[in-house]
Amino acid sequence: MKQLNMKFYAFALVIGLASCTQNDDPIIPTQVNMTASLATMQQTVSNLPTEPLDDAEKARILFIREEEKLAYDVYQTMFDIYGVSVFQNIPNSELSHMEAMLSIIKKYNLTDPLVTNARGVFVNTTLQLLYNQLVSQGRVSLLAAYQVGATIEDLDISDLNSSLEVTNNQDVRLVYDFLNKGSRNHLRSFYKNIKNWNGTYTPVYITQAEFDAIVNSAMERF
Ligand code: ZN
Ligand code: ZN
Repeated sequence: MKQLNMKFYAFALVIGLASCTQNDDPIIPTQVNMTASLATMQQTVSNLPTEPLDDAEKARILFIREEEKLAYDVYQTMFDIYGVSVFQNIPNSELSHMEAMLSIIKKYNLTDPLVTNARGVFVNTTLQLLYNQLVSQGRVSLLAAYQVGATIEDLDISDLNSSLEVTNNQDVRLVYDFLNKGSRNHLRSFYKNIKNWNGTYTPVYITQAEFDAIVNSAMERF
């Protein structure tokens, strides 16, 4: 985490200077806010009771941990290609989502599925295929990259909602809610950029009604 953040900061500094004229969405939680909210949430997680987890709940936790890496890795790759601030800020938030999931994995003595921090390398074959596919779609144009971002958040919200259905542990639910709120904000941000480029997005994983309710409501605070 620390190493990744340092790398990110160095990178952000260089690209930030180069892209100060870019007109894309600045309405993203700042790094300071994200760090503060992550620390608060981790403290709350450790204070909540440790309740039993069945196999289905464990499987969801491990999957979401790696799915957050998918978002982080794709966005970093898009930032390398396009250098726009939305792909600079959102991966930072994805790192905090990965860390939040890790706090649950550690609390319940599960085995972290992330065997490597190497970008674009996944244990789950579905996530590996998705990474390859989404990166190749995003390379086409900046609009396509924003649409890839919306697709990832669409997927994340759908998977977090179904994960919430299988768990009643307060600490796990707290983390899923934290990730879900972040994903809704990311979806709002990507969709705003898509519209700025006169593009469209049709949800694939959540319903059109769920999508509309999210993008037509304000950014949520942490
Ligand atoms: Zn996330
Ligand atoms: Zn996200």
